[in-house]
Amino acid sequence: MYYLLRDKCNLIVNRSNWSSRIHLLFMPLLYYWHPKNHRRDLDYGAGYHLNQKNHLLHQVDFGDSLWAFTRTADARYVLAAELVVRAKTHNRPGFKYGPYRVWGDLKLSRYFQVQGQPSVEQIIRSLSVTTRAAHLGQSFQGLRAVKPLSIADHQVLVEAARDLPLEPRARILPEERLEAALLLGDREAVYQLIREENPGVARERQRYLYQAAPVRNRSLAEQLHELYDGRCQVCEWNPRDEYGRNLCHAHHIQWLSRGGADDIDNLVLICPNHHSAVHSCDAPLDFRAGWFDFGSHTERLRLNSHLTLWAA
Ligand SMILES: [Zn+2]
Ligand SMILES: [Zn+2]
Repeated sequence: MYYLLRDKCNLIVNRSNWSSRIHLLFMPLLYYWHPKNHRRDLDYGAGYHLNQKNHLLHQVDFGDSLWAFTRTADARYVLAAELVVRAKTHNRPGFKYGPYRVWGDLKLSRYFQVQGQPSVEQIIRSLSVTTRAAHLGQSFQGLRAVKPLSIADHQVLVEAARDLPLEPRARILPEERLEAALLLGDREAVYQLIREENPGVARERQRYLYQAAPVRNRSLAEQLHELYDGRCQVCEWNPRDEYGRNLCHAHHIQWLSRGGADDIDNLVLICPNHHSAVHSCDAPLDFRAGWFDFGSHTERLRLNSHLTLWAA
């Protein structure tokens, strides 16, 4: 498997020489982000990932783009995001938004501000995807919410997105500091972090982090320490043996600031070294394989009794 991001330009040049059969293996995708979900998702922090029921989602290649468009309140279709894919994982069995997930690179992916953006309806209807419905969104219902694009389609969208202003809510919190403050129950530090954030972050998200997370987080972390006897779920190191203290952290598998829930199904107990590596590599957990994907390699959860993984 290739984990490194490829140079997109090279990829496009190389592809034009390949046979049409090979083209099908590597494809950018277009996704219709329902306006209601789009607004809600951004209020809780741009996730830089997408879930789907359609297996087509996993046919996007690393370094390829997943384009998302949505509809504004005044019924115009506009571009919402370009995720440049860096990882593909499976969700836990029965996950309501589908088993497949792709993750966008945090630096290369973009969320576009939708207000004031010109309509892209004619552009989307001009692409090679089938869009016969009178209301464009209706051509993207259910499993058809994701459609494969050609390289030429992709280039048309790159051009359309060239000068679009970016969405101010799509900013990443300094999550390690936030989590550390939450773990220590240091409300003042949490407030300070959020106050220091750039303007434009949604009020809903601030309320969520201010009011809900600090209180609930600690009891869940205590449950995990109890459950695993203080051990790291990845390397099984037990700080209690050496230091007589709980040094492992409860990490939010899907970060809080990217829409993750503060519940035990979204937490994993890991040592400070693994915690630091997971954040610095933005490593997602694959619920089918039961490992963290660090890009360069994977590391399996050696201990797990609370997360529902796919049967081996
Ligand atoms: Zn560890
Ligand atoms: Zn974490």
